Amino acid sequence: MMQQYLGLKAEAGDCLLFYRMGDFFELFFDDARTAAQVLDIALTARGEHGGTPVPMCGVPVHAAEGYLARLIKAGCRVAIAEQVETPDEARERARREGTPSSKALVRRDIVRFVTAGTLTEEALLEPRRANMLAAVCELRGTRGVAAVDISTGTMVLEECAPERMGAVLARIGATECVAPEDWPAAPPDAVQRPRGDFASDGGEARLKAVHGVATLDGFGLFTRAMLAAAGGLLGYLDHAGRGTLPLLLPPVARRSGEHLAMDEATRASLEILASQQGGRAGSLVAAIDRCVTGAGARLLADDLSAPLVDRAAIEARLALVGWLHRDPLLRADLRTLLRALPDIGRALGRLVAGRGSPRDLGQVRDGLLEARRVHDLLKGRPDTPALLGALLPALTGHAELTDLLARALVPSPPTERQSGGYIAAGYDHALDELREVSGNARRAIAAMEARYRAETDTPALKIRHNGVLGYFIEVPAKHADKLMAADSGFTHRQTMANAVRFNSLTLHDEASRIAEAGGHAQAAEEAHFEDLVERVAARRHAIAATAAALARLDVAAGQAERASEGEWCRPVIEDDPVLAIEAGRHPVVEAALAKGGERFVANDCALSPDDRLWLVGGPNMGGKSTFLRQNALIVLLAQAGGFVPARSARIGLVDHLFSRVGASDNLARGRSTFMVEMVETAAILSQAGPRSFVILDEVGRGTSTYDGLALAWAVAEAIHETNRCRCLFATHYHEMARLAETCEALSLHHVRAREWKGDLVLLHEVSEGAADRSYGLAVAKLAGVPDPVVKRARAVLGKLEKGRAETGGIAAGLGDLPLFAAAFEAQEAQCDTLRDMLAGVDVDALSPREALDVLYRLKREA
Ligand code: ADP
Repeated sequence: MMQQYLGLKAEAGDCLLFYRMGDFFELFFDDARTAAQVLDIALTARGEHGGTPVPMCGVPVHAAEGYLARLIKAGCRVAIAEQVETPDEARERARREGTPSSKALVRRDIVRFVTAGTLTEEALLEPRRANMLAAVCELRGTRGVAAVDISTGTMVLEECAPERMGAVLARIGATECVAPEDWPAAPPDAVQRPRGDFASDGGEARLKAVHGVATLDGFGLFTRAMLAAAGGLLGYLDHAGRGTLPLLLPPVARRSGEHLAMDEATRASLEILASQQGGRAGSLVAAIDRCVTGAGARLLADDLSAPLVDRAAIEARLALVGWLHRDPLLRADLRTLLRALPDIGRALGRLVAGRGSPRDLGQVRDGLLEARRVHDLLKGRPDTPALLGALLPALTGHAELTDLLARALVPSPPTERQSGGYIAAGYDHALDELREVSGNARRAIAAMEARYRAETDTPALKIRHNGVLGYFIEVPAKHADKLMAADSGFTHRQTMANAVRFNSLTLHDEASRIAEAGGHAQAAEEAHFEDLVERVAARRHAIAATAAALARLDVAAGQAERASEGEWCRPVIEDDPVLAIEAGRHPVVEAALAKGGERFVANDCALSPDDRLWLVGGPNMGGKSTFLRQNALIVLLAQAGGFVPARSARIGLVDHLFSRVGASDNLARGRSTFMVEMVETAAILSQAGPRSFVILDEVGRGTSTYDGLALAWAVAEAIHETNRCRCLFATHYHEMARLAETCEALSLHHVRAREWKGDLVLLHEVSEGAADRSYGLAVAKLAGVPDPVVKRARAVLGKLEKGRAETGGIAAGLGDLPLFAAAFEAQEAQCDTLRDMLAGVDVDALSPREALDVLYRLKREA
């Protein structure tokens, strides 16, 4: 056994090996140590290996799913080794092979790898979250990315520049990622796979084979890099499923630039799908999700992680939301229908992957019938939006399949197949007859029990059934004598502490009839099950399209619902780079305040080409961050095709959204937080363009006052002069107000505060003009800093301010600072001179002495 185990373990590689032994999956050696710790179960020992006891732990097979879920959550991957023959078969084989049958070992094989990205089980998946598996690779300088949600089969292929890979992966949010082995650029926890899998021709061939097509042209245009990544992905799926591929829908090519670009830091700081603490609570999606189906919630999350940049596509979604927003009664009816909808996409996924149950078939049936009802509710209404027109046809066309499933299945089929009973009466005559036979026999046994009681005069006599004995007659021990008599017609089978068990010829006959008919019936049900699964699988694309259409309707209805709850408005999408938001609100902060009975103060934002950079000052806790983020979120929500928390909103399409938070708000990761802040700021300065929207919160805060102000100043100037994007810039440096003198498209704003009888009142109102002062001490007092400390600080501040009045303070030297553009031009001119000088040098013709002279000249010029 140890030999067999070690062989399988070698195959399992770095996965934990679940080794099936009877009713348990056992783990040994280090696997056992890991699992015992993660699962908090007892670690025992069994036998010896190399002279030391073998650590072991186990989980019961019937409860394996729950344990698997915990192991996967903890980042483990698991290989399942099942017994692939019965003990009888093993003995038979041993006999044939001439080994003693007592030594016969049941053959085992790894039947499946369970990994975070390859789950389909309902119990292991979160209903409201997609479960993505991604593959990445490099091909001639670009990156290919393939992603699939194998629980529903949706597959997306894309290509991106190397520096965009992080952003693309952040958008996809995969739970598991695979990459070629020994690839230095692989994401840190990627599973390493053979390089040969990531070949474009292999990927193309696999895709064609999966979809049974001669060319992929019908699905879209795929680049070599995309196909190479697809190859890696399919190779891994093939490996994980041991040759059985899951449901895969035709791949969709995502072109770069199709979505509002956001990098990982922006996503994290806007808390789109998860809050900074990591959970869904407190995130944007949690605050707006009113979907009534899991599939809807998953699509909403996808919409929010990949907002659109195509105006027509955004308008199409908005029109559908608007239509449902205007008609609350229709919306309520629609949501009632949707609420009853099972997760057909995932049920289909399990069925096609060969892990389906009769219940999944029932879900497909019920879901498709429900889709028909949704269709009938929505069809033929006035002013139908175009998107609805496109969705409606996908909701019907399954009549033949639903009729079949309705006839074939009982109303609520079980998740277990073994005990049968899921095929409806009347569907198969032969099956009905078999059931009749066992039904009759069961009734005969019941009648027999009454008869035996009378005959033996033992009212306590029972006919019972268990897995070991089958049917038997049982009487309390004190009545056993009557049945023991030789001519009683009963044969003794077992004596228990308080009861004695018997058999009889008639009982044996009836029991055999039940067993035989039961066996046949089960085989018949199995055959029907396979047939029905095949028919469902044959229509997989149409069923998936229905599921997708229903999810889109659920998202639209949910968005409309959310909008009407909070008096949200339909944004107007424009091409000009404006951002005009009237009475905007932050959906998450507003909801949090509402819980404590507090009101959120709505604020306007009005960015336009000649007023595109707002400096927002004011005290800490005054609402600067909230204001910045609410505007970014409004853009994001609008471009995802939903209503926004504002009285009105005009939004010029944004192609790239950036959000940065000053270092001290973002205590994280190994690198110095200031370093992180600067790396992120550098990314903005190099990438933001005229269609971008940037929010910068307290940039420069992570270093000394002088450094910080200088950096914030230069960054603001560069954004104004070079990037020329729309930008909200929060800062507590008053000195930056002077930027307004030189930057014509920059204006000053502040969050208002007032001191009232020595206490600070934060009004959370954004007003025009520079902040008058910082109220730092008042905030400190508000936060509970002890009085003596605040008093002392006030004295120190007095001294400092006196010094500032005398010297002109920290910004004293800024009076004669040349304009950013002029400074930039001067630098450029100097670079040009150096470039010209270098161009004139023929390096190969220089002697070492001359080379040194050239260096000296260059240095003088610099
Ligand atoms: P700052 O960035 O200026 O330090 P924040 O934006 O972090 O301030 O806001 C601090 C707190 O003030 C928030 O957690 C919230 O409770 C409250 N707040 C912010 N903006 C508003 C608003 N518009 N209306 C009501 N309360 C607000």
